[in-house]
Amino acid sequence: MKTLIATLCLFATTASVANGQTQVDPEIALRMLNAQQQQFERGIVQVADNVFTAVGFHGANTSMIVGTDGVIIVDTLKGPASAAVAYQAFRQYSDKPVKAIIYTHSHGDHIGGASAFVGDQMPDIYGTENFGSAEGVTKAAGPIKQKRNVRQFGRNLSPMESTNRGVAPSGTIDDDGGNGFLPPTITVPNTGLKTTIAGVEIEFHLGPGETDDAMFIWLPKQKVLFSGDNFYSSFPNLYAIRGTAYRDVLSWSESVAKMAEFQPQSLVPGHTLPIQGQSASVTALTDYSEAIRSVYDQTVRGINQGKGPDQLAHEVKLPKRFKDKPYLIEFYGSVPHAVRAIYSGLLGWYDGNPTTLSPMEPKLKAQKIAELAGGTQELTERMNAALDQQDFQWALELSDHLKWLDDGDRKLARNVKIQSLRGLAAREYNAPNRNYYLSYANELESGELSELWF
Ligand SMILES: [Zn+2]
Repeated sequence: MKTLIATLCLFATTASVANGQTQVDPEIALRMLNAQQQQFERGIVQVADNVFTAVGFHGANTSMIVGTDGVIIVDTLKGPASAAVAYQAFRQYSDKPVKAIIYTHSHGDHIGGASAFVGDQMPDIYGTENFGSAEGVTKAAGPIKQKRNVRQFGRNLSPMESTNRGVAPSGTIDDDGGNGFLPPTITVPNTGLKTTIAGVEIEFHLGPGETDDAMFIWLPKQKVLFSGDNFYSSFPNLYAIRGTAYRDVLSWSESVAKMAEFQPQSLVPGHTLPIQGQSASVTALTDYSEAIRSVYDQTVRGINQGKGPDQLAHEVKLPKRFKDKPYLIEFYGSVPHAVRAIYSGLLGWYDGNPTTLSPMEPKLKAQKIAELAGGTQELTERMNAALDQQDFQWALELSDHLKWLDDGDRKLARNVKIQSLRGLAAREYNAPNRNYYLSYANELESGELSELWF
């Protein structure tokens, strides 16, 4: 574990020198993602005498707390097939019946496998008052969100292209996702709840963050804290590129700070390995909360200076003191994405610059850019040159212009886009970005996006 952390820190430092975002040398990117893989290798971790966490049985973690006459399950994975395998692994530590199931929040990867834990007796199922509010009330954008979800998680990538999902392995069994979901039968009020289940003292604390319906679980005797997805070993996904409503970044930071106040002996995240020891747990939570807060504060400061999201996404950085923290490397969340999310969460789409109040339509702009370049032929040459020079982002932007031009070689533009996306992907250690680039390149190549692509 120590070596892993040292390796990751070394890579992260290299990365920050190279770019400051999440693009590094291809070999380093791959080594970083492979090292992160150890965070979700399949196995049971004994967190306390009576607490066990199953890591790597699906994307998220599930835990078992053993009481006097039964056990409590915290989170249930995405579907009953993976959950059944985890449950079987738990059975070597206790065969007592399941008395309660707790959902830390309503994301599918934590609730869809509940039925696998239920025997003859129906357990009590705990969720918060807001349970289910995670994805907002409207399903209007469902179809495109589903497509973007597939790209973010690299669900259709070949084994050669696949690495992981930042805080989860790739290649999880998802066919039965949601099939084992059982609705909550006990509502945890917004003021929280302290109770005893199967002889285990347990506390439920509201902790909005990744979702509004999130809570964290505290075992006062064992000093174990289950954070749900407000903490895992990666810079947090303050915005998901699959497309989500605004995640309340300030509340997220505050919820994690509240967790630190409990001074846990062990910290069980929603994904990735548990952290053991009081000092390590409290430091991780404190750093995490402060890192989120710092990104939020820097963004708000920039906003009030009149800066727009494009500029701020490049300016806002994690403070240097966090550079050697393995749980803040941007494997899953990304600082620039977070900055843009905070901007639009607080102010909406408009950046305040009158130039962008009514921008040109893309086709007209492409024509003017071509004119500026000296014609479509010259624009095409500049695009090709950018690709040759591995200036992939610029090549992408030029190919997006070329594709609008009636006299442009659209096939070539598409080809350049595909190659540029693969070039960026190879250098990317942020898993969602990497997966998205690769997935989109494949869709373009297969002709799936022949009518509409950009
Ligand atoms: Zn999750």
